[in-house]
Amino acid sequence: MGILGLSIAWECSKRGAKVSVMDHQYYQRSSSYGLVGALTPHVPEPWEAKKQFQFDSLLMAEDWWQEVYFASDIAPHYCRCGRLQPIIDERGHELAILRSNEAQKNWRGQAEWNIVSTTDCPGWKPKSPTGWLIADNLSARINPRLAIKSLRKALVNNNVPLTRNRLEETKCEYRVLATGTAGFNSLSCELGLPLAAHEKGQAMLIEYDASNQPVITGGGVSLVPQPNGLTAVGSTTERYFTNPYKTDYRLNELYLKAVELVPEIGNSRIIEKWAHDRPRSVTRAPVLGTHPTRKNTFLANGGFKIGFGLAPKIAEVMAELILNGNNLIPHKFSPENALSEAVRQKHNILP
Ligand SMILES: Cc1cc2nc3c(=O)[nH]c(=O)nc-3n(C[C@H](O)[C@H](O)[C@H](O)COP(=O)(O)OP(=O)(O)OC[C@H]3O[C@@H](n4cnc5c(N)ncnc54)[C@H](O)[C@@H]3O)c2cc1C
Repeated sequence: MGILGLSIAWECSKRGAKVSVMDHQYYQRSSSYGLVGALTPHVPEPWEAKKQFQFDSLLMAEDWWQEVYFASDIAPHYCRCGRLQPIIDERGHELAILRSNEAQKNWRGQAEWNIVSTTDCPGWKPKSPTGWLIADNLSARINPRLAIKSLRKALVNNNVPLTRNRLEETKCEYRVLATGTAGFNSLSCELGLPLAAHEKGQAMLIEYDASNQPVITGGGVSLVPQPNGLTAVGSTTERYFTNPYKTDYRLNELYLKAVELVPEIGNSRIIEKWAHDRPRSVTRAPVLGTHPTRKNTFLANGGFKIGFGLAPKIAEVMAELILNGNNLIPHKFSPENALSEAVRQKHNILP
């Protein structure tokens, strides 16, 4: 059971719909059973529909997860802790100033993207060759496994049955296929189109206590404080792979980069290594809406690297579509858009 299916089920059940959740395998096998949990925004320029959607979702997240916590009594360990990123050179500084101005405009005072000196930052921080950092207060973090546990329990407490079954084999009025990489693969086969373009990620959990500190991102590495004196280090991005679940030397390289970024984590004990493929659509955007070939069926997929960050807003727009027929989904996320991009790529048609 992944974050998208569970979130949509939760939203529909809150609105009074009769819901059940099915998964044909243990939820520990899903891409949502990870350990990173960074809820971080894209850069605030150039502004477009996907960024607005993500922004709305990140703003909704605090109340949304609080409600799940109340309903389940299991803490997902959500915290709007902010994020620090190093500014590497003069060009990066100019870009950071531009983005700070754009954030003022596009984030409308609901969050900030500031430039701060390393000396003004108490607590942990990344090494910065310029002495400057970007500090945003929109970013948050969550514990993915506890978030999944919390949502499952909230659903059970709301009388939603969770069963082991294939979705295709069940009778219901409406069906939502939030089936991650497997779902994208089978739809690609059915249509003979390259709809899926998954990317593998590897991550690890180290024994380092950074609780209540911001997320740190830089040079393709994220350090995300987690409960119980642990910190997550993520993630590799691998387009070509044979085994999505195997960790290898790339994760060791990632760890070395993380130590380069935040030297104080060096010598931390490694608690767990983990790898999975991420459901990525041909457009890189989520694919949300009416299923292209099946009646009374909806698709919710393509969370890619930010599935947890997008979950509250995806749940909202999907519930609105399924229960009220009200389509608030940006065109960029529609199955039609993904299909036409797949056709374009299959036949090498220029955009
Ligand atoms: C290394 C790594 C790090 C990541 N870090 C972050 C991060 O920091 N922040 C963030 O927001 N996101 C992150 N992500 C991305 C995020 O984990 C995914 O976007 C998200 O988990 C996708 O959720 P999903 O529900 O679409 O798919 P999944 O979690 O894979 O769930 C799909 C479920 O559908 C089930 N299923 C498939 N076919 C069927 C069928 N026919 N019948 C019944 N059930 C079926 C599967 O068993 C599975 O449980 C990361 C991912 C990885 C791999």
